[in-house]
Amino acid sequence: MSHHKILIVGGGTAGITVAARMLRAGHGDVAVIEPSDVHYYQPLWTLVGGGQADAATTVRPEARVMPSGATWLHTAAAAVDPDANTVTCTDGSTHTYDVLVICPGIQLDWERIDGLTETLGRDGVSSNYRFDLAPCTWDFIRDTRKGTAVFTMPSGPIKCAGAPQKIVYLACDHWRREGVLDDIDVYLVIPTPRIFGIPAIAENLEKVIADYGIQLHTATEVTSVDAAGKKVALSSVAEGGEDGTLPYDVLHVVPHQSAPDWIKAGPLSTGEAGGYIAIDRHTLQHVRYPNVFALGDAGSSPNSKTGAAIRKQAPVVVENVDAFLAGRPLTGSYDGYASCPIVTSAHDMLMAEFDYDFNLKPSVPLLDPTKPHRPYWYLKKYGLPAMYWHLMLKGLV
Ligand SMILES: Cc1cc2nc3c(=O)[nH]c(=O)nc-3n(C[C@H](O)[C@H](O)[C@H](O)COP(=O)(O)OP(=O)(O)OC[C@H]3O[C@@H](n4cnc5c(N)ncnc54)[C@H](O)[C@@H]3O)c2cc1C
Repeated sequence: MSHHKILIVGGGTAGITVAARMLRAGHGDVAVIEPSDVHYYQPLWTLVGGGQADAATTVRPEARVMPSGATWLHTAAAAVDPDANTVTCTDGSTHTYDVLVICPGIQLDWERIDGLTETLGRDGVSSNYRFDLAPCTWDFIRDTRKGTAVFTMPSGPIKCAGAPQKIVYLACDHWRREGVLDDIDVYLVIPTPRIFGIPAIAENLEKVIADYGIQLHTATEVTSVDAAGKKVALSSVAEGGEDGTLPYDVLHVVPHQSAPDWIKAGPLSTGEAGGYIAIDRHTLQHVRYPNVFALGDAGSSPNSKTGAAIRKQAPVVVENVDAFLAGRPLTGSYDGYASCPIVTSAHDMLMAEFDYDFNLKPSVPLLDPTKPHRPYWYLKKYGLPAMYWHLMLKGLV
């Protein structure tokens, strides 16, 4: 049993960023519950799958990113009792708090696609959504010289909604450079009516899709994988969608996602589909428990679930926790900012930055934010990882 003024659940992107900012803001007693020995920079997994980054560069020991001054509780949260201000962990320990910041990330529901788990990592089937599988994606892309390639995106919120399409472009760019693109039928299956929610960006991405000769299935998702028959079943999810099957030689799957099961089953959940933590979309304070805040992928705020969003959410949480503890009105307000860096080839990237209302919020002046540009690609490969490890996780940006 221990008590902490600020108790944070999850030491991923959100938890470490908030812990560092809390300590900088002068809070002396900050504890982080985190079971993992390692911390991942997940945005680079797209480049790992595209053969442009080494998986080893995306992982560091958790001990190295835990801010000095924070207490690391090396266990996993199992349940929260917000009426008693307690978190119970899988090792049997119980921790109490003045303020709880909860950010255990998102759950990957692989089993929601029948037949997928049995074949993941084998026979041409992979996913950039797991550290150990992203290198397999590249192996399968590199070894493919002809046949059919299928890339999928599931319905419902997912982290980095751009990731399912980025890997298609990297694969096609590689196959074009190898002179084999014309020998491969490439399919991209997405549940949405268009490739992107902002029309000006969708138009430019549709040009990229046409240029590579990708066959786009909209309003459709993959429901099962038949590994023996090497085919996937398609199901319509909205008007204009299709039911049917597609053969594959190489298959990149993005799983359905939801809040962790223990969150869904507990009192902090919205109780709606996905079961995310019920927070106010601007203050990030829990809608029923004022001393509970959430950010990152597990929160219910309807932003695009990205590390970029967390960079803007973290200072809002710290400002509002300060105000809450001082008995002042909450003034911090998150506008839904998210950034979706869409690599369109091995040297170009489109940087979609927008808020809750899909207003464009470009950070780099002069470059048209609706089109791919080369400088953005260097930002993705070198600038953003350096900013993440050296500035964001230290609470400096
Ligand atoms: C392939 C891919 C590409 C991406 N590309 C981009 C991109 O280009 N740009 C971008 O901004 N974002 C991108 N993202 C998304 C980004 O990585 C996530 O949005 C971000 O990491 C979410 O942070 P988080 O802290 O909410 O969750 P995470 O960073 O996943 O951290 C959650 C932490 O909680 C811990 N945890 C889990 N269960 C418990 C428990 N019971 N108790 C305590 N701790 C627990 C975990 O061990 C983990 O450390 C990408 C993600 C993927 C997978």
